[in-house]
This record gives sequence, structure tokens and C-alpha cells, in this order.
Amino acid sequence: MSTHPGFSTRAVHAGQAPDRTTGAVIPPIHLTSTHLQDGIGNLREGYEYGRAGNPTRAALEQQLAALEGAAHGISFSSGLAAEDALLRGILKPGDHIVIGNDVYGGTYRLIAKIFDAWGVTHSVVDLGNLREVQGALRAETKVLWVETPSNPLMKVTDIAELAEVGHAAGVTVVVDNTFATPALQQPLALGADVVVHSTTKYLGGHSDVIGGAIVLNDDALYETVRFQHFAAGAVSSPFDAYLTSRGIKTLDVRMERHSANAQKIAEFLEGRAGVERVYYPGLESHPGHALAAQQMSRFGGMLSVALSGGEKAARRFAERLSVFTLAESLGGVESLVNYPSAMTHASVAGTDLAVPENVVRLSVGIEDVDDLLADVDGALARTSKKR
Ligand SMILES: *Cc1c(COP(=O)(O)O)cnc(C)c1O
Repeated sequence: MSTHPGFSTRAVHAGQAPDRTTGAVIPPIHLTSTHLQDGIGNLREGYEYGRAGNPTRAALEQQLAALEGAAHGISFSSGLAAEDALLRGILKPGDHIVIGNDVYGGTYRLIAKIFDAWGVTHSVVDLGNLREVQGALRAETKVLWVETPSNPLMKVTDIAELAEVGHAAGVTVVVDNTFATPALQQPLALGADVVVHSTTKYLGGHSDVIGGAIVLNDDALYETVRFQHFAAGAVSSPFDAYLTSRGIKTLDVRMERHSANAQKIAEFLEGRAGVERVYYPGLESHPGHALAAQQMSRFGGMLSVALSGGEKAARRFAERLSVFTLAESLGGVESLVNYPSAMTHASVAGTDLAVPENVVRLSVGIEDVDDLLADVDGALARTSKKR
């Protein structure tokens, strides 16, 4: 590799060198729970018990760190397990966290139900309103939690600006980079302290594995989170780590196609009869378009659409698509449709995070865009006919 390999070169090669013993080009999946010791405490390459370390997981962790040019990556059994370990590493009872008003529902539940019961308080703010963010930061605040673009309304917030505001208040600035992925957005380079991924989504990319990751540069915080990972045990399995590594190798080409397809679908939907509004940062009409163009290299594969016929129309549209599969989750090669207010966001109904009932979220896959457009067109026609 050259001294400064590009993104895809790192995605393909970091941590993925051929096996030294057999020459296998693809590193093996180390399905083992423990490792031979050549004498008591005399370990081969540091491996002993599998919760503490596994070569397949370590290979993925190198790859995860390399995607953002970071010093450290840690691979967890899910995105929420990663978030939990990070927050337990940073927060103590009495501390306070600031989150956005459209944070991922599972993150909100973790903070509002589990950390709240443990004595950690939180404030929900509009991350696009700097005054409001500054007003919410107080002496006990330890974490500012940022997610952009947000789910499902695709709000774009300024990572560099929020990092500055957070650092002025002495807090750790965390960015959930699941929607954009490091292929499109590099939060550490923009000033954030920690990146969180649900690798279940675009990094794995094939809807066949649940996983999460923490990526960061700070050595002390890394040791703290690594200890949580080991001591509480939410590690990824060797097979899951392998699947995630395999997915990451094609991340950049997938994100290119996801973004191109989503752009075309967003443009097709905008202004169409039956459509009230399209939420996609690649549209010039999107309030965060200019910021997204500056902060991201492409606009991603996620979009939401508000139907003008209210809840009924939204439900019909979601159920009448056929190339798009009706299912929760996102980021796989196949297109998915989700009705947030009764599916992914049902648990936040009645809170600050409730999603309007006429909104449908699309995770645009890498299929032929003409087939996706025909599907959307047909479902929209069948939605309005029966109204
Ligand atoms: C899915 C998701 C998570 C949680 O990850 P899991 O792998 O489901 O635990 C966190 N943040 C975002 C933005 C997500 O989409």
C-alpha cells in the first residue's frame, strides 16, 4: 500500500492481509473461544480467552479504525451494545447528556429508560439551534450526542460547529455515523471525539448481521471503552466480525449506487400528486442541502416522504410497494420500506421524537433504479386511486 492509501484501498486491505501460515488471501474465521498458551501466560500474539480478543474481530477492528483514519476501533455485538459501553465508560450517576430531538429511537430508549434509572439525566434539543444546544449544556453535562442525517426526517446538523460548542463546554462529542457511513462523512476529521456505528446497516450492508462499533483517537477513552467491552462482554462473534469485514470491502461502491438511486427517487417523488414533501439532503429544496454538500461527499441512500393523504395514504403506500420490502432496518443492498410511526418509531410515540403519521421511510437499495422508480410510481398510483 502507498503511504496514504485511499478510502477503498483501506476498506479492502486494512486488517485483511493474507494468512501468514497458509497464504489464504482471505483471513480465516477464527472460530475458537480460547487460545493455546506456550507456558503459563506465554501467549501467541496476545490472544487468550475469546471475550478479551479474537483474531477475526481484531482484523475487523483495524478495518473500522482505518475507515476514518482513526487510532482505535472496537467491534460490538450490536450498535446499542456499542453505545451502552461508551456511555457507561463516560457517565456516572448525577451526570447529564444532551441529545437531539430526532435521535435514533433505540438510543433515546437506552438513555431515557436505562441511564435515567441509573441517575443520568438528559435534555432533548434541536441540534440545528446552537442557542438551544448551548443552553442545555451545564456543569454536569458529559456528552453531546449528534446524529446526522437524522432518522427518519433526514435533518442535517453541522458536526464541526457542534464539536466546537461541545468542546467549549468540556463535553465529549459523539456522532452516530450510521446513516452516512465513513464513505460519505468523516466526523473525527470534522472535530468529533467519538464515532458510533450500527454496523448492522451499511457497513455490514447485506442485512445478514447485527453489530456495532466505536471508533476514536483518544487513548484514555479507548482503554475505558475497551475495558467495558471486555468486562461487560458485548463482543461481536468471529462469524459476525467476518461478515462485517466482508461487507466493508464494498462499502464505497455500494454507497455510490445507494446515493445515485436515492437521488433519482427523491427527484421523481418531489412535487408529484399525492406527495406532500420529500426529505432527502440531495434535493436543493432540503433545508440542509448546502451543509450536507459541504459535510458529506454524497447524500446517501435514505429518504423519507410525507404523503398528502395522511396516515391512511402512508400506510397504503408502504404496503403497496413490492420491490421495496416492508421491514425495519436499513442499509442493505435490497430496498426496504418502513412506516416509522408504527414500526421503528412506535416506542417514541407521544414523546419529542414522535414521527408524523403520514411519513414513510425508504432505504434505497442497489437494484436497477428503473425497477425502483416503477415500483414507487405504481404504489403511488394505487395509493391515490382508493382514497
Ligand atoms: C440501527 C441503529 C442503531 C442501533 O444499532 P443496532 O445494531 O440495531 O443495535 C443506532 N443508530 C442508528 C442511527 C441506527 O440506525
